[in-house]
Amino acid sequence: MMSKFLKEVVVILVGKQAEPITDLLDNKKYVNEFLIAKKLGLTINQTRNILYKIADHGLVSSIRKKDKRKGWYTYFWKIENLKSLEFLKDILTKKIENVNNQIKSRETKVFYICKNCNIEYNEENALLHDFTCPECGEVFVKSDNAKVLKELTKESEKLKREFAIIAEEIGKEKEVSEKKRVKEKNKFEKDKKDRRKRAKKIEVKPVKKEKKAKHKSVQNKKKQKSKKVHSGVGKLNKKSRKKGKKR
Ligand SMILES: [Zn+2]
Repeated sequence: MMSKFLKEVVVILVGKQAEPITDLLDNKKYVNEFLIAKKLGLTINQTRNILYKIADHGLVSSIRKKDKRKGWYTYFWKIENLKSLEFLKDILTKKIENVNNQIKSRETKVFYICKNCNIEYNEENALLHDFTCPECGEVFVKSDNAKVLKELTKESEKLKREFAIIAEEIGKEKEVSEKKRVKEKNKFEKDKKDRRKRAKKIEVKPVKKEKKAKHKSVQNKKKQKSKKVHSGVGKLNKKSRKKGKKR
């Protein structure tokens, strides 16, 4: 389902010729742009141009790696599912609005048509042309609004169905990213706790001494220095003694 939507997005943004790129992009891992270019049979610049156009809307993201020998950057690309779906949702919203406006207009206004040229005019323009086709001279007849309305309603329903599916997909994507967020947050908290535990194990007595020393007057600075060195040596000795005991 997702790939159908992504294709739609890419066709809207870049054009039909760029459609195959969606099969090469992934939403989980980044893909090397040279690989994409090779598989598409395009140059790297053509490939980048397509990707930049999609990236302008935030629908793909990239990371880059420097080639240590050649000194240039290679970009790796990933598709952004949620943003792509939201982009499509916005487009659908506008389409639905447009169709609904047309429906309203068909329900309330009269249209005229030249059956020869199959060109339709609203009432104002029909009046302007004296109800006669400016192209062929044929007299206008009233359009069959009922027929157009039926088609518009059908179109509106189709769009609404598509909208519902996309809204559901967006819900799923949000759920996935929320789970990921919580997982990452929990990992972060756990790492933080672990770091604190480790920090506690390395006891902080000498640091406390140092703090006290800061409050002492300037005259004592020299004394302090020698003290510090002493305590440092003492600490070292203690440590090595401890180590010695353990062994
Ligand atoms: Zn005509």
